[in-house]
Amino acid sequence: MTGKMTTDKYGAIPMVTLEELVESQLEAWPDARRNYAALRETERRRIPLGDLDTAIQLNPARIRSTGAAVDKASVEARPCFLCAANRPMEQFSAQVAPEWELLVNPFPILPMHFTIVSKTHEPQESVPLDMATIAERLPGMAVFFNGARAGASAPDHLHLQAVLSDELPLLRLAEKRHDPDAGGFLTSEQLGLDVPFQFVSGIITPDMGGMVSLMKATAAFGIDAGTGQRDPRLVNAFFWTDVRGLMRVLIVPRRAHRPPHYFMADDKRLVISPGAIDMAGIMITPRREDFPAVTPEIMRDIYGAVAFADTLPREITEHFKTV
Ligand SMILES: [Zn+2]
Repeated sequence: MTGKMTTDKYGAIPMVTLEELVESQLEAWPDARRNYAALRETERRRIPLGDLDTAIQLNPARIRSTGAAVDKASVEARPCFLCAANRPMEQFSAQVAPEWELLVNPFPILPMHFTIVSKTHEPQESVPLDMATIAERLPGMAVFFNGARAGASAPDHLHLQAVLSDELPLLRLAEKRHDPDAGGFLTSEQLGLDVPFQFVSGIITPDMGGMVSLMKATAAFGIDAGTGQRDPRLVNAFFWTDVRGLMRVLIVPRRAHRPPHYFMADDKRLVISPGAIDMAGIMITPRREDFPAVTPEIMRDIYGAVAFADTLPREITEHFKTV
């Protein structure tokens, strides 16, 4: 089934329409229904790290994504699961913007979890400008981007995801601490936050300044810990409208794709491969044995290995500097 979504007079898709879409999709798709039902049984443990109230979630259905082989050869060898022609027959799609389709994610981390897919098979290179439009159309949802080296399990096909913005601790923190009157971009350091990794919070105003901010957000990059090179694929980005109707953006520049824990010998190994949701404060462990093993110290180590623990490199802060 494909369809155009009902919108309100501002072009936004009301939450009730999204809820109906999820409901009818789950009715028609037993596998997805089973995964959403399993989500309700999911074990979750709170791990406060300074100002960021993180949690660890045991989610066996996510092994497909966390353990995904995303090297070039493996990706080329499989049919692309985001291309319309290869999707499961049961999967509905709805147009959310001219070039983008909204799908219910069959492997959810949170109770409303969508994948938003480009109609064209093109690589996940950098933060797409359309994110702002899509976030505007989905009030209450956070639209997010996993760079090809920052958690994307389909680096060959441009896609976004969306979950309820309230569910993500990092976004709640930015909303609480980044006063809209301060405008522009502020780093987590400038916001005076005690967090396990540094990020950039922004407010996109509907004027020229906002347009410039939007350009900076879409040109965001991380810096590879190994080579010291800038890389737009080492980025997680979030766009959402807050309760006041302001467009917010949050960028997590990354330094590595996966933490060393992912590559350790069997008894020390932790199958954790952080993407945007993990960075937003909900770290996923698909394997039961990893769930109790994650201590606050290990969580800090993981965050520090894939992002910048103490301070953002000057190259990055200069990029986001607003005058
Ligand atoms: Zn594709």
